[in-house]
Amino acid sequence: MRRDLTIASGGTLRKIQVDRFGSAEVMQLVEADLPHPSSNQVRVRVCAAGVNPADAYIRSGTYAFARPELPYTPGFDAAGIIEEVGEGATAHHVGDRVFVAGILALHTGAYAEAMVCDATAVFPLPEHLTFQQGAAIGVPWVTAFRALFQRGHLQPGETVLIHGASGGVGLPAVQMAAHFGAIVVGTAGTKAGMTLIRSHGAHAALNHSKEGYLEPIDVITSNSGVGLILEMLADRNLEKDFSVLAKGGRIVVVGSRGKLSFAPRLSMIKEADIRGTALWNMTVADHTQAMDAIMGYLDGEELLPVVGTVFKLSEAPNAHDFVRLGGALGKCVLDCE
Ligand code: NAP
Repeated sequence: MRRDLTIASGGTLRKIQVDRFGSAEVMQLVEADLPHPSSNQVRVRVCAAGVNPADAYIRSGTYAFARPELPYTPGFDAAGIIEEVGEGATAHHVGDRVFVAGILALHTGAYAEAMVCDATAVFPLPEHLTFQQGAAIGVPWVTAFRALFQRGHLQPGETVLIHGASGGVGLPAVQMAAHFGAIVVGTAGTKAGMTLIRSHGAHAALNHSKEGYLEPIDVITSNSGVGLILEMLADRNLEKDFSVLAKGGRIVVVGSRGKLSFAPRLSMIKEADIRGTALWNMTVADHTQAMDAIMGYLDGEELLPVVGTVFKLSEAPNAHDFVRLGGALGKCVLDCE
């Protein structure tokens, strides 16, 4: 469905601006002129923006992978409607419903009422998805795909432990792995999180806030262990992971927020592979493979982006605090309408 657009607020927009790196309070809501797309770019009227933990790391100025020039507007992921098309961006039309997945071009700017981005970062949003669901796709879904398949080499029928399954990355990972035919064990820190991950295809859900929570894996795998672990908090869990890993198993480190002292011998006993992953290392071919698969999942309507907590654009500082503190029940998004 296409809509006729009028540019609101007399050629200006509201956006979050960061003038210096620091705590969440450095994000200010400002008014600015509407930007116009250059060649091979489009301007998207942003209806919703995804809030990723990386947005908060970048804003703090301590992120190893990206330190944008100041001032900048945070946010890689968005969904909305195309309202202006630059020369050469022939695949897109004014009025198209789209989502923006800007990670490969290091495209920030989604925390705004409108953003200009490369046409290659813009994908059609299937009609059955809301803009908030569209904003939940980019970074988390590409991360889930990369971790499971490009780095984790998941096999059908294999058991995968998704250690931190209730959040933005974990829930698409649960759905993709179950859809692929793996046996999925997920963890969450709340009862509601455990229910959520089961309802999206996890065969078993464990509570990572409880002592001894990994013990049922022996029974689930008939003592053979899990072949693959996606780890969202490696500094907390990596040592524990070896206790439930099968011989020759792989651990893909997706998230880590600190240091860890552990015995490397554990990796010898299991002949384990510990593999890091970071989206920033993806090649164009990796990204194309991931996006092709994701568009297939979405068009098939079997896998769904799960929206958790929603904040207003003006509440971006609260959203950054929220993703740091946890208690996720799906993807945190900003409502930018
Ligand atoms: P999120 O939506 O905030 O979710 C965080 C997840 O971590 C929740 O499922 C949370 O569960 C879980 N968690 C909390 N305590 C845990 C524990 N002790 N053990 C295991 N899991 C725990 O964040 P996200 O977007 O899914 O991102 C998850 C992590 O991956 C973050 O560290 C993020 O920076 C990282 N990440 C990395 C890449 C990459 O390229 N490597 C890309 C995207 C994200 P409860 O809230 O239920 O406790």
